Amino acid sequence: MFILQAAPEIHPFAKTGGLGDVVGGVVRPLAELGLQSATIMPLYRRVRESRPALARAAEFEVTVGEKTRTAVIWKGVYPGTQVPAYFVEEDSLFDREGLYGGLKGDYADNAERYVFFSRAVLDAIPALNLPVDVLHVHDWQTALIPVYLKTIYAQSPAHSRIRSLLTIHNMGYQGLFWHWDWSLTGLDWSLFNWKQLEFWGKLNFLKGGLIFADFLSTVSPRYAKEIQTEEFGCALEGVLRDRAKELVGILNGVDTAEWNPATDRQIPARYSAADLKGKAVCRAWLRKKMGLPECAAPLFCVVSRLVEQKGIDLLAAVMGDFVASESQLIVLGTGEDALQRALVDAARRWPSHVAVEIGFNTGLSHEVMAGSDAVLMPSRYEPCGLTQLYGQLYGTVPVVRRTGGLADSVQDGVTGILFGEATVASLTAAIRKTVETWRRPAEWNRMVLNGMKQDWSWARSAREYAALYARLAGAAGKTA
Ligand code: ADP
Repeated sequence: MFILQAAPEIHPFAKTGGLGDVVGGVVRPLAELGLQSATIMPLYRRVRESRPALARAAEFEVTVGEKTRTAVIWKGVYPGTQVPAYFVEEDSLFDREGLYGGLKGDYADNAERYVFFSRAVLDAIPALNLPVDVLHVHDWQTALIPVYLKTIYAQSPAHSRIRSLLTIHNMGYQGLFWHWDWSLTGLDWSLFNWKQLEFWGKLNFLKGGLIFADFLSTVSPRYAKEIQTEEFGCALEGVLRDRAKELVGILNGVDTAEWNPATDRQIPARYSAADLKGKAVCRAWLRKKMGLPECAAPLFCVVSRLVEQKGIDLLAAVMGDFVASESQLIVLGTGEDALQRALVDAARRWPSHVAVEIGFNTGLSHEVMAGSDAVLMPSRYEPCGLTQLYGQLYGTVPVVRRTGGLADSVQDGVTGILFGEATVASLTAAIRKTVETWRRPAEWNRMVLNGMKQDWSWARSAREYAALYARLAGAAGKTA
């Protein structure tokens, strides 16, 4: 069985978020399971800057609307493996500062950029002679690939047996473009109707993928259910309900080479479930670094984008609670101006209880995770979430809202504390409950140790993807 993963970003070549981590995270464990695979992504400027060793592998013309553009395919390997990593070069589209946009917002030609990429992926398969059984695509940027497989490429001998899997990383990003961009796709206008690729007069890439892919997945079982409801479906819940039988959730994993308190060189002392002494050192160090006094109460942290999705407005509204419960809070994040300001104001007002660092700082995020007692995530929605997984591995109890991947990866009273509503009252109650539980050391330590023993490795996710690929490829065998 041969799997080709086509994605708009792949860690460590270039990434903007969790999507890049997922694709990169499963490459090595899939190889360890004995699966043959390859990856393909655009050759962005950022990929060149990371200087992977590349060899020219193919060159061909790709049709995009009225134009043809030249795609040059470069071949490297995924770091630490023998897995081929292909890159599609077209400098006028991909040799840019950002991946999807710059300071002025999204690039105006994103429809053209990802139509080109999607068709280049399909044309690369015969050009490189890849025996693809399953084409695993990710998010709206590659969501037209399943549409092409069932239309323009349906009769092609190199493509007709390929089964497609589309993974949705966040329903909030759909690739919506005005209808004049339709001609770029090369698809027949008959598909531009509300039951297929049209969405309120616009062209919706993700919707196309949701309808045409052989199978769909998202990054947690609970999010897979939630997106079938009006609250979380971003107006595509009906389409998702129609595909409910072919939609599963597979939780993301953690890069345990980077996130392991027993080997982490970015924290002042190392520790493990067998010996937690180093955690106390990390805690004392962190308090000092952030200017907080010693305190006989738990130290909470938040490491997050500071946006409404993450419930940071709720957090800003409960800052006085850390004073009232005599606990402390450290926030590390960047995001919306008003939220940043509210948090910084609270830190000025209550310097013994609240410390805030505005910025994106990976090193500090390790120190914060190691030195805190609890990590707060009052998210409104959360497709998977990573911070609650890091928290568990670092003995930092996750206190999270019961939604999406948070509900799937934190067990209430066992590995963390869950709360129900995205409201100030519910968050306040959760903070109080956490402080009370912390005051019962036997109970608290049990949660800490339970969390540290969880397996959040990518190997676990890769096993689930491998089973899904086998199911898809098996189904292809039957119909072939
Ligand atoms: P999302 O992808 O929605 O932002 P996730 O929890 O899935 O949320 O992943 C966020 C990742 O970014 C985590 O690894 C988190 O530690 C990291 N992160 C978020 N904000 C910061 C920051 N200010 N500094 C360092 N790391 C951050």
